[in-house]
Amino acid sequence: MKPSGSLEGKSALVTGASRGIGRAVAVRLAAEGAELVLHCNKNRSPLEDLAASLPRPSTIAQANMAELSEIRRMFESLAGRALDILVNNAGIWRPTPIEGTAPEALDELVAVNLKSVFWVTQSALPLLKPGARIVNISSVAARLGVAGRSVYGATKAAVESLTRSLALELAPRKILVNAVAPGYVETDMTAEHFSNPAVLERALKRHPLGRLGVPEDVADVVAFLCSRDARFITGQVINVSGGFII
Ligand code: NAP
Repeated sequence: MKPSGSLEGKSALVTGASRGIGRAVAVRLAAEGAELVLHCNKNRSPLEDLAASLPRPSTIAQANMAELSEIRRMFESLAGRALDILVNNAGIWRPTPIEGTAPEALDELVAVNLKSVFWVTQSALPLLKPGARIVNISSVAARLGVAGRSVYGATKAAVESLTRSLALELAPRKILVNAVAPGYVETDMTAEHFSNPAVLERALKRHPLGRLGVPEDVADVVAFLCSRDARFITGQVINVSGGFII
């Protein structure tokens, strides 16, 4: 999709903007004219490089999404800002086999992928203007069984449930809440998994469009959901999976 400047004058916070899908979303929203708050975990340098390449000045905000106290501290640093767009993208993909998963590993997955979506949204609410858009990044794993990765899918199913309920809860404030569910996307998250040619071949066979996704496939749909064209869409999940889910 060609940028059309549809987000001129808008301000957007993207979590996990340092790489992968979050970075592509930030680039796309900036190309549409939005000013960005770029969130990262600990390492600021990828975001400093990204910020330097964007057409408008952006702000860098840091927080470990596994820690509520860090999320709250991050929003204290953003007090007084107004936001039109929140993209809850930061996430992790870890195996949690039913045998051998440590409590800390399960807690981290739930904290980063699920709880942070709730706490970041709660913290962002005072900054969000009427008409604002919230886009949560889910996964087709929310609706598929994946042996050895049950908790990841469960966190994403919960994110989709949150999306529907928050869409209702925030409708009176004219805040629209939707989710995008990618299939497999070529990012650092999946690089090791697909370094095995047999695993890659199996995955490609399940993608009717014959390729894995790239971050821009997802970013374009997020940009649509943030645009005026999506003004009557709320509580929905859009699969961006090259037909994987069907
Ligand atoms: P990625 O390349 O691994 O990037 C993950 C991003 O999340 C990074 O910016 C990372 O920050 C941030 N993050 C991770 N843990 C964090 C923490 N504890 N606190 C704060 N930030 C943290 O992943 P991706 O593939 O772009 O995935 C982005 C989203 O899409 C995730 O929600 C993922 O579940 C979802 N998704 C991905 C795929 C896929 O195939 N790639 C498919 C479906 C859904 P640092 O750089 O600082 O670590």
